[in-house]
Formats: sequence, C-alpha cells, structure tokens
Amino acid sequence: MNKVIKYYNQTFGKNNQQLAVKSILRPIPDSVKSLGYFRPGYFVVPEPRRFATVSRKLAHELAHYWWNKGNVQDEDWLNESFAEYSALMALRKLQGLPLFNSLLEEKKARLLEVERQSGKVPSVYKAGKKLQSRHTFPSTYYKGALLLHELESLMGKEKFMLLLQKAADENVSNTETFLRLIRQIEGEQQANNFF
Ligand SMILES: [Zn+2]
Repeated sequence: MNKVIKYYNQTFGKNNQQLAVKSILRPIPDSVKSLGYFRPGYFVVPEPRRFATVSRKLAHELAHYWWNKGNVQDEDWLNESFAEYSALMALRKLQGLPLFNSLLEEKKARLLEVERQSGKVPSVYKAGKKLQSRHTFPSTYYKGALLLHELESLMGKEKFMLLLQKAADENVSNTETFLRLIRQIEGEQQANNFF
C-alpha cells in the first residue's frame, strides 16, 4: 500500500501528496457487489480473497484521494475511470506489464460481455447527455479506463502523466476542463479525436 501511495505521490499527485491513510478491511458477503469507498484519511474495501484483486482495489481507493471531484451523476468517470486506471498504472509499475495487460484484457472481455447481453455501452461522456445508469459501472470501470489507456498510448506515457498531474493540480471536476488540458498539452486535433 505504501508503494502505491509513493507511486501516486511521485507522479500525478506530486503537488498534493497523500500523507496518511488508514485502510479498513471488512468482510462482505459474495452477494454484495460493493467495491468499497474512499473518504479523506481512510477507505473501506471488501476483505480480499486474491492478492491481485486486493492490490487493485486498494490502489483504486487510494487514487480517489485525487480523483473525487467529478459530478457523480453525470461525470463519474472523472472519479471512477481515473481511479481505476491509476490503479492499473500503479500495478504496472509495481507488479509488471503482464499483470497490467491481463487486467486490460479482462476489462475488454467484460465490456464485450456486457454489450453482448445488454447492448452498446455508451461513451463515458457526451456534452449535455446523462449516462444511462444501468451502464454506469461498465461505462466507467471498463470503457472509461480503457479510454484512458488509449489516450496514454496516443500521447505517450510522459505527456499523459503530465496531463494527469495537471488534472489533479486543477481539481478537474468536468470533462470540458479535462479536454482543455488535453488541448493545452497535445493540440486541438488529439482532443477532438478523444471522444
Ligand atoms: Zn471508486
């Protein structure tokens, strides 16, 4: 856990470091699909079963220290997709590329499965449109995280990290502002390609 915090503090969180946090692990029955929650200073996650799952969930909750400003109704991807992708980046750094790639593949497979069963998952954000609530989880945890990965691939790791750092520094709370940051770093075209 300390290594994850250190990674965040040294990268996108360098100007607003998370110094102390307590974790609370609580047993949650299988029937409850809760992923836990974050509050400044502490977070609660379901008691872990598999190590990879544990680290991903911890890393996800820890990242909410920075990613918690998006409007939960309309732009929750600024919280959930960013926390989820930050967790994957931390695991890539700390546990290697194969795990990172397998988690990405898992997300792609789950997204396809959801789409097979209940139709296309909408974009994480469209100006003026609300997300359909039944798709919120796949939209933010799968599609949004995969979108951030695509953006990282397009921009390159360094610029992408700079983008995340600016987003964290500016407490970005809406997608338009995030797009403005992409334009600042990358120019108009990349921002237009993004959604
Ligand atoms: Zn979350």
